[in-house]
Amino acid sequence: MKIFKTYKHEIRFHLLINLCIAVFISIASYIHIPLGTAKAYFIYVGHFFILQFTFFGFIYFLSLFKRAFSILFPIFFVLFSGFSFWEYSQNISVNTGLIQAILETKPDIAVDIMNVPFITYLLASLLTAIFCIKKFHTLENNTLKSPLSILAVIAIGCFFVIENKRSDTLKRRIPYSVVFGFQKYLQKPNLRLKEVKENVISNENGLEIILVLGESLRADHLYLNGYHRNTTPLLSQQKNLISFKNLYTPLTYTSTSVPQLLTDKSISDTNEKALTSLYSILKKANFHTKWVGNQSLEKSYKSIVNTNDSVIIIDKFHSAFSFKKEKDISLLKHYQPNKPFIKNSITTFHMIGSHWYYNSRYGDAFKKYTPIVASKHLGSSSTAQLINSYDNTIVYFDFFLNSLINNIKKENKNTLLIYVSDHGETLGEEGKWFHGIAHKTSQNPAMLIWYSDHFGIKNELKIKRLQAIENDSISSNFLFHSILDIAKIEGFKYQTKESIFSRSAEIE
Ligand SMILES: [Zn+2]
Repeated sequence: MKIFKTYKHEIRFHLLINLCIAVFISIASYIHIPLGTAKAYFIYVGHFFILQFTFFGFIYFLSLFKRAFSILFPIFFVLFSGFSFWEYSQNISVNTGLIQAILETKPDIAVDIMNVPFITYLLASLLTAIFCIKKFHTLENNTLKSPLSILAVIAIGCFFVIENKRSDTLKRRIPYSVVFGFQKYLQKPNLRLKEVKENVISNENGLEIILVLGESLRADHLYLNGYHRNTTPLLSQQKNLISFKNLYTPLTYTSTSVPQLLTDKSISDTNEKALTSLYSILKKANFHTKWVGNQSLEKSYKSIVNTNDSVIIIDKFHSAFSFKKEKDISLLKHYQPNKPFIKNSITTFHMIGSHWYYNSRYGDAFKKYTPIVASKHLGSSSTAQLINSYDNTIVYFDFFLNSLINNIKKENKNTLLIYVSDHGETLGEEGKWFHGIAHKTSQNPAMLIWYSDHFGIKNELKIKRLQAIENDSISSNFLFHSILDIAKIEGFKYQTKESIFSRSAEIE
């Protein structure tokens, strides 16, 4: 008890700091999470207290350096509060993408985000920080000898143990997300891209390729592939659509599968060789290349995307973890059906698709299967609820892709649409959830091809070949080589045997 008396002021001070951080900064990371059940509340409250405890550890050690603390604490407190304001009010995602946007944005855009509530919030946080520093200067026993030092070591240890066990558990919350987002921003990507030096030409004219890069859509949940629920009522009515049931990829993270799909990297490549972007080759062959994405660009594939002529990312500041994320249909605002034109083109739409949190992916009109997930906490929902929510994302996907196809059909163009999901999703099989898992459900993504009548007439034999292999096993190596094949590229060596348009010779 004597100890408590001696260090009474120090304990009170650190509790005060912790409370201020909670109010101005860290609660913002929890406020938008749909919790639903008592169990989920219990778990997230526990999560929050552990997070706060880890802050104590770092702040305590900083506070041992009186001068540094007096200067740095107010600066960082106001800075982190600034980020939290946007997370509170807009549910923006503080991550590398946001840090990059802030550091690389012109000052005139920065002025736009200044508004009265924001400035008031910053002022309130500044006054709070000054109040804390005043209290700090009255402390007498805030030294390394204090027993609080031991508690602080435990708190910091707690941070590293948890992050080691489940990466990003704490790092995804402000202020850690700001610090680690900045650190990631400074890291160099390990992807090396080759320039295309060859003289490349295309023997096609007016070919429009639409590549739709899906997210977490497993093949066997499509009605088109024999799933018992009608998850694809609209696409099932489309003519000229082929669904491939056995696409295989061992790469079950977006960050590993997307770079493989969009370059000459093979799924069996283990070495870090320099890669060639699909877009670099097509651009060299005079294709117009355009990327429209509903996911902020990850470091692992950003440089590949940037080899496009134009890159549009809609809704940059909401990541997959935000509950206000824009729906995929907004991607289509960037597709205008043009009159047939001579120049070849490739447009890529990168969807948020069926990424967890499933309910955020579709509007109420697509809530076909109920009851759905009611909580962000996985353990608070039944398997049936999770599958219902997931299947609703497919009903939405059906609407999205069908709308895109109908848009394309407005003009009689020579169009080929390839839809491929980056990986699948595991839905409780063997007790596993989501992706990043070596399981058939994650390794068998959905893959569809749709072609315009014009394309069908021009490529009758190739279409027959596609129809002949719709049940065959295809590896995700197919994409790069098939696109170069159908674009009739000359001057760059690709593997015809990997192309789905040249595979089954027996029907000739
Ligand atoms: Zn993914």
